[in-house]
Amino acid sequence: MKSNGTIRIAVQRSGRLSEGSLNLLKSMGLQFETYQNRLFTRCRNMPIDILFLRDDDIPEYVQDGVADLGIVGSNLLDESNAKAKRLLSLDFGFCSLAIAVPEQSEFKTIVDLAGKKIATSYPQTLKRYLAENGVDAEVILLKGCVEVAPALEVADAICDLVSTGSTLRTNRLTVLETISKSQATLIATPNVSGEKQQLIERLLLRAGGVQEARAFKYIMFNLPEKKLEDAKALVPGCDSPTVMPLADPAMIAVHSVVEEERFWEVVEKIKECGGSGILVSPIEKFIR
Ligand code: ATP
Ligand code: ZN
Repeated sequence: MKSNGTIRIAVQRSGRLSEGSLNLLKSMGLQFETYQNRLFTRCRNMPIDILFLRDDDIPEYVQDGVADLGIVGSNLLDESNAKAKRLLSLDFGFCSLAIAVPEQSEFKTIVDLAGKKIATSYPQTLKRYLAENGVDAEVILLKGCVEVAPALEVADAICDLVSTGSTLRTNRLTVLETISKSQATLIATPNVSGEKQQLIERLLLRAGGVQEARAFKYIMFNLPEKKLEDAKALVPGCDSPTVMPLADPAMIAVHSVVEEERFWEVVEKIKECGGSGILVSPIEKFIR
């Protein structure tokens, strides 16, 4: 299965991170097919095998070098003792690990849970958090369906992953404390060298390029020439915006990149400066 210099990337086989992981690898230029029930697939254009695993196994496999790279939620890394290097946060699979209690309960703060039972699939992270906050509660380990534990009177509270909160609402639970935030993360095995290390660095550059591209938009607009200094301040681009003359000598065209987060604020300011014909397009890759 493995030849010298071939690297293995472990992704979740079937679950919330699967689609985002495969999309990222494809955007990084890896060409491969995915078939149901396959445990691994080989890339056509690079010496890379993709392994499809349960997410819980990925940190240890990466630590032990069974896989060289892996994509998992940072919640799993916080929970496991595996020594894998965190290379890059990937901007998908967002969720938080939170302590939740029944809506009608008398628990208002974490301190109220002293002497109570908290059900979770994340015992290590929860125990650490309780210890940091000086709360002595009993931690009950459940592998799944943690949200039904209070209704079944297995526990007084739960500690589980939350994204939209709809599962909590369905089970009449409400968040008491958020312990940590999580997102998909690219991890690497600690000991690599030579060809493999070079390939990992290439892949990291590509993953970073895909990330940056998602965080930016390409923007073009026309502006009165006398407002050039305002444009430079608004859309500095990588080093400096591209400025081109127009047929009307009083006007210029400005091309640049703008962070998605600041996008609407920047567009409003461009309009205030007399900008017009604002065109925006997505960026496929962005290497600074
Ligand atoms: P597997 O069979 O691989 O063990 P799983 O049931 O443990 O799957 P999923 O529910 O698919 O895993 O969750 C995988 C990861 O997705 C979580 O570890 C977390 O990082 C992320 N995630 C994002 N939103 C949520 C959410 N609302 N609930 C659970 N996990 C979430
Ligand atoms: Zn899992």
